[in-house]
Amino acid sequence: MDDAMTERTKTNVAAIVGGGVIGGGWAARFLLNGWDVRVFDPAPESRRQIGEVLANARRALPAIYDRALPEEGTLVFCETLEEAVRDAQWVQESVPERLPLKQVIHAAIANAVKPGAIVGSSTSGFKPSELNERSTKAIVAHPFNPVYLLPLVELVGDKVTCERAAGILRSIGMHPLTVAKEIDAHIADRLLEAIWRESLWLVKDGVATTQDIDEAIRMGFGLRFAQMGIFETYRIAGGEAGMKHFLAQFGPALKWPWTRLMDVPEFDDTLVDLISGQSDAQSSRYSIRELERQRDDNLVGILRALRINKAAAGKVIAEHEKSLVVEGERDELPVTLYRQVPPSWTDYNGHMNEAFYLEAGSKATDGFMDLIGADEAYIARGMSYFTVESHVRYLDEVHAGDMLTATTQVLKGEGKKMHLYHRLFRGDGAMAATVETLLVHTDLNARKTCLPAPEVAEPLAAYAAAHENHEKSGAGRFVGEPNKSREVTSTPA
Ligand code: NAD
Repeated sequence: MDDAMTERTKTNVAAIVGGGVIGGGWAARFLLNGWDVRVFDPAPESRRQIGEVLANARRALPAIYDRALPEEGTLVFCETLEEAVRDAQWVQESVPERLPLKQVIHAAIANAVKPGAIVGSSTSGFKPSELNERSTKAIVAHPFNPVYLLPLVELVGDKVTCERAAGILRSIGMHPLTVAKEIDAHIADRLLEAIWRESLWLVKDGVATTQDIDEAIRMGFGLRFAQMGIFETYRIAGGEAGMKHFLAQFGPALKWPWTRLMDVPEFDDTLVDLISGQSDAQSSRYSIRELERQRDDNLVGILRALRINKAAAGKVIAEHEKSLVVEGERDELPVTLYRQVPPSWTDYNGHMNEAFYLEAGSKATDGFMDLIGADEAYIARGMSYFTVESHVRYLDEVHAGDMLTATTQVLKGEGKKMHLYHRLFRGDGAMAATVETLLVHTDLNARKTCLPAPEVAEPLAAYAAAHENHEKSGAGRFVGEPNKSREVTSTPA
């Protein structure tokens, strides 16, 4: 699909020092956003582990976008730290959370890295001033597991470096949050620690099992937190009287207090056995990789829901997607859709469900509308096209992970009417479907049809003229018409 892809210059290199759970996630995030990645991790298991994280990421990350991510970068495992970092624009340290080890590693990175490169540490708790005792370069760039799906990165340290880092992180679909001053454990882990500590007490005191606590989170406030944080949530909880009323009502309770505050339960064998025993009873029927896939599938669903409202992390995805350009031609027709088929588009027959052929056609229409200037800004001015009729021909199976390309031919583009013929191709070149669709131009305020503005009508007419003599076999069919030109090979359920 070379002609439909944006030309990519492979100049971006990220070095991953420490390729465990978090380093593997960073490697996947950079690779799937087109960066070349060099990993240094002396552990023999590291290649296998990164391979497994990458397989999960390839399945999950493209599913949150309606456009293909850039061509994947190249992954290289290096024998030395110096070899990994010397050409990198971004070095991310993710070695175990031990300060003396991190300090030695950062001194070695500072010696080997090229000037101007960003050096980030994934540390959950240490401050930049501690990490930099033997060097000067590192900022904290603290991500969240799975790094390839969750956008948040807390940035702490030198302001200018953090600003540059923020730009790079946005370009790979992440959300940088710069912390105003350095503090142990930054922001999010402070919040998580409070929940974690209370959870340990509740298990130790026999108030709740590990499963009860997980239900208490995921059936209630956990759902709220994905879309509004604690302050917006509590503002609403204050009712029409708002935040002041909420504070007056619940503020005094903090003095009682309900929680164990800074008390930490003794981590003796009894507590460790109690918690790990309950956790095994709760989840040991699944492997860690299975749990990761369950987590990723749920996160993809949540992120896609947030995207619809451009809320919270959904807004980050929508903004990032604008940088993923779909362009080029195929068979002298414009490419209007290029994307990976997500697992959620497949059904019990193990292939893409028929509804998503139409969804792909609808996205191709959106892509074509962008091309003729009937884009977001035009729609915001109160004009758009409404679909009045569609005909889908299911020609071949499509599976999760296939790369789908659509081309769009204008059959008619005159007056209020826009008659389009989309062809959907799989990554192997086979034509999987055609979607023929008739749209009429509509005034969104009056909810009545009207003529398009000249800046849309003219490019549409130009496409219609250019496509007039292009072959149209398969267009204009009625449902059930005998197929003269080719046999339909399958009909997705
Ligand atoms: P991990 O144990 O899974 O991975 C650490 C990796 O570092 C291992 O693969 C190990 O072989 C490698 N390593 C050890 N010494 C090394 C050296 N000298 N040079 C290169 N590699 C070396 O740990 P993790 O969970 O990935 O945590 C890494 C960092 O990320 C920590 O600072 C942690 O606080 C932070 N972090 C963890 C999470 C999380 O949820 N696990 C979340 C955010 C941040």
